[in-house]
Amino acid sequence: MSKDKQFVTEITPQNEDFSRWYIDVIKKAELMDYSPVRGCIVFRPEGFEIWEHMKDELDRRFKETGHRNAYFPMFIPESFFLKEKEHVEGFNPELPWVTEAGGEKLEERLAIRPTSETIIGHMYAKWIQSYRDLPVLINQWANVVRWEKRTLPFLRTTEFLWQEGHTAHETETEAREETSRMLEIYRDFCENYLAIPVIMGQKTPSERFAGAVDTYSIEAMMRDGRAVQAGTSHYLGNKFAVAFDIKYLDRENTQQYVHTTSWGVSTRLMGAMIMVHGDDRGLALPPKVAPTQVIMIPIGPPKTREQVVGRVDELYAELKKAGIRVKVDDRSDVSPGWKFNEYEMRGVPVRLELGPRDMENGQVVLVSRITGEKRIVLQSNLKEEIDRMLQETHNDMLERAMQFRAEHSYSVGTLDEMKSLFEEKRGFALAGWCGSDACEAQVKEETGATSRNIPFEPAEHKTSCLVCGEKAEHSVVFARAY
Ligand code: AMP
Repeated sequence: MSKDKQFVTEITPQNEDFSRWYIDVIKKAELMDYSPVRGCIVFRPEGFEIWEHMKDELDRRFKETGHRNAYFPMFIPESFFLKEKEHVEGFNPELPWVTEAGGEKLEERLAIRPTSETIIGHMYAKWIQSYRDLPVLINQWANVVRWEKRTLPFLRTTEFLWQEGHTAHETETEAREETSRMLEIYRDFCENYLAIPVIMGQKTPSERFAGAVDTYSIEAMMRDGRAVQAGTSHYLGNKFAVAFDIKYLDRENTQQYVHTTSWGVSTRLMGAMIMVHGDDRGLALPPKVAPTQVIMIPIGPPKTREQVVGRVDELYAELKKAGIRVKVDDRSDVSPGWKFNEYEMRGVPVRLELGPRDMENGQVVLVSRITGEKRIVLQSNLKEEIDRMLQETHNDMLERAMQFRAEHSYSVGTLDEMKSLFEEKRGFALAGWCGSDACEAQVKEETGATSRNIPFEPAEHKTSCLVCGEKAEHSVVFARAY
């Protein structure tokens, strides 16, 4: 067996065991490591940089739409949680508590935030007096903690990193517009930055955020056909305004409660990105977030090595100056073939090879991680050619993911149909639903699939409920989910 073969077999094939594949890849590519604390992971530099690129772009988009960042404490007094009944019921089972500090028992125990509606609501009540103070458009980048029963790196961890937007508005219309605007930003970011196609829609009441009037989500399909909720945006109505007494004097001089929203995406996006694009060779990173976009590998016999490496270094300096995230691997103790596998496994979108013949011809070879396409291009035009290949790689990834989703999307009419579908296959199943919690719960019990959302644009309008056969109020996407 060749060296290359041995290398690849260290990653469990996706078809054999997808979860194993996922863990193999994220560990081998050095994105994360397990920590000594249950459910908490360490983001290694290679993984953290991906998050940083996501964060920078999202932050830019939030600011472009008028939001500003602030920071609130991670400890929340217990009394705050008790103010909004649904919120506390939803989050209580997942809260960790600080009961003792500085060697003394605290008078009031403090929760470590699972989300910050309560403490932010408390502050907004102080800051908002009149309609002139509205809207308040604040975002926070933070860590939060939810004591999850089942955990999986990035996708569901006990402590995770996220952003949470919290806004307050004069009217329901404005707050609802904000809820939609942010969901659309998430959709666009997922598709145009991470190459992840998503389904936008509304959550059913049983899947709503604890304390929300309406929850909207974007849902993505992983390469094992399971779903990931990639982001949520909530219209909270007056619920937190009433609980925290956030009132303002309106234009007619009467006291009104504000309408609030909240919206968030987390480091779960990293897990989704890995599971949407990766393959049996390893990671495949979308070019816009890849820590290394181009890996340069000098090739050829020892006698031309110095010359070739010299030229690679010159091109490297040019590309770096042009803003491309580029690296050179000029180690002479490992073969080019070994390096090719290594950077494919790490998901680097484009490989650049330069050998003595290319030197003579003033060209280089570019190879796409996704399609394997080789392109011989002129050195004089390198920056443009690389930009083009990075953009095409992004497009190829999005297209491939859309095709995969289309091939694994089904339409079912009855619970029996759904049961036999999920016995054999994984994917998204669109079905009619009457709107009752009981029918929804029965789907989960009998198929293991949960309602993902009620798509804004369903592929088809279903007419009858898959469980009871009554008139369908909605067409719902069901899937097994992470
Ligand atoms: P929520 O506040 O529940 O609407 O969640 C906001 C965002 O965080 C959503 O995109 C969730 O998918 C994500 N999220 C929720 N729980 C976790 C977790 N345990 N680990 C990582 N991400 C999470």
